Amino acid sequence: MISFLSFAELCHNVEGVSATLEKIDFVAKFLTSIDEEELAIVPNFVMGTVFPPGSDLVMGMGPSLLYESLLRACGGSSSQISEWLRATGDPGLVAYQVAEKKKPIGFAAFTGKYQISISDVYKRFLAIAKASGKGSQETKIKNLQYLFSQSSPLEALYIARLAIEDMRIGVGEGGVRDAIAKAFHQPADLVERSYNLTNDMGLVAINARNDTLSNLNVMLNHPIKMMLAQLGESIPSAIDEMGLASIEWKFDGARVQIHKDGDKIRIYSRRLENVTASLPDISNSISKHAHAEEAILDGEVVALSESGRPRAFQEILKRFRRKYNVKKLVSEIPLSLFLFDIIYFDGKSLVNLPLFERRAILTKVAEQEIVAQQVLSDQPEIAAEIYQKALDSGHEGIMIKNPSSIYAPGKRGKNWLKIKPIMETLDLVVIGARWGEGRRATFFGSYRLACLDQVSGKLLDVGRVATGLTDETLSELTDMFRDLILIEDGMEVELKPAVIFEVAYEEIQKSPNYSSGYALRFPRLVAVRDDKSLEDADTIERMSTLYKMQRGRNSHS
Ligand code: AMP
Repeated sequence: MISFLSFAELCHNVEGVSATLEKIDFVAKFLTSIDEEELAIVPNFVMGTVFPPGSDLVMGMGPSLLYESLLRACGGSSSQISEWLRATGDPGLVAYQVAEKKKPIGFAAFTGKYQISISDVYKRFLAIAKASGKGSQETKIKNLQYLFSQSSPLEALYIARLAIEDMRIGVGEGGVRDAIAKAFHQPADLVERSYNLTNDMGLVAINARNDTLSNLNVMLNHPIKMMLAQLGESIPSAIDEMGLASIEWKFDGARVQIHKDGDKIRIYSRRLENVTASLPDISNSISKHAHAEEAILDGEVVALSESGRPRAFQEILKRFRRKYNVKKLVSEIPLSLFLFDIIYFDGKSLVNLPLFERRAILTKVAEQEIVAQQVLSDQPEIAAEIYQKALDSGHEGIMIKNPSSIYAPGKRGKNWLKIKPIMETLDLVVIGARWGEGRRATFFGSYRLACLDQVSGKLLDVGRVATGLTDETLSELTDMFRDLILIEDGMEVELKPAVIFEVAYEEIQKSPNYSSGYALRFPRLVAVRDDKSLEDADTIERMSTLYKMQRGRNSHS
């Protein structure tokens, strides 16, 4: 049993150094010192995720439950918590300060020592994630309260950050991958591939230690990272690059990965969240039109209006988000499925087969109703015709894919090129909000946005978005963000960075007022991208590229 204190000390050390290599060294060393039980847990903890993505288990612990647990365990007042929050901006440091003031109680009072183990913390988190229905809030609070009552200030700091899955120690997926490679002398790309296939860093670490990484493969009921597309320059250049190309519509919808395990169907969103319960119509379509005992299918769901044109992306997201009263929404916003790939079929992974072979299997497994059309051609004119048709039908453009390419999980490469009209939007992280005034006093009226600095992992301010929001949207958004409030200071609220807004704008301008150095002119919310996660946010490099591009454009006009 490894104490949680030793893990907290690791985090403290990692946080204390700024060089990525040093951080990785600390983590690697720690990984070599722990047993298999902890090795399954620690790599996820380091990244600030308690359960691997796609797991049926979700923590669901907002800051308000966190503070309640803290107060019950350690005493103190909520006004004191608010004051410390304003001063530090960090729920973890607040937990540290509150725990510092508490008198040892319970087990700790008898021994004078702090004894919780990493596994103890994990087990309590498991109980929190499993709590559901009536009384679940109380169960969550009690479990976290127990942990705080048994922990030293340093442990409380990292328990708090883990509970809300916001570690702030500057180690992401890439860092943990490198640490596993280093700890167990494995090639980094093998570790990366294993992670993209299984999405479980604990499992990868265990197999890295046992030297069995190459045995890891696609697993049914474990989401695989989705293959992504690069922006193609133009139709002729894309076709030129590929020769014979597979041409498909780029549907205006949301990505899904569907696992069929006999009668059991699981559907994952692009963020690899399990969204099965929200999409019963898609499960039905699969039961009806897909003929395989076991399969993993990749595709897009689209909300088509009666005219056959896709409805706004927000409508689809309403479906994805809905947990209760799903039936009603199914009839209001019916979804259609367009499958374009198959990754696994009756016990075998297909990732290493070329696309044209996967496509042949897909069309055998799934009936035409649920399969995206594909045209094989080396003629740019044919691709251009398909492109025009897709746009005329209200879709985004086309995908030009290399028919002999393998399925590369998690990769944004040259084998899938997307061609769409230039209307660059930015995917930005929501980091704060401001309460509205007058009629809108109960809603957040504007949101603070940030882009990502990939080098430091920091989020850099780019200003606010306030337009493009109807009262209905404002109210829905406010409900969604309520649980992400970290700090309230008068009208201003700091939010846990978790949601991506797709924002359109007139122009990117240089601005000393924001930490990114850029501001957006006339920003407008296009969509809440529930399907994207923080790593998908646009980077400061992209902002600077777009800034330069638009200057080039303006000087020619
Ligand atoms: P983007 O999000 O702009 O990088 O474009 C990639 C996304 O396009 C994928 O993640 C899918 O959700 C979507 N998409 C729509 N149609 C297709 C298609 N035929 N093949 C692959 N992806 C598609």
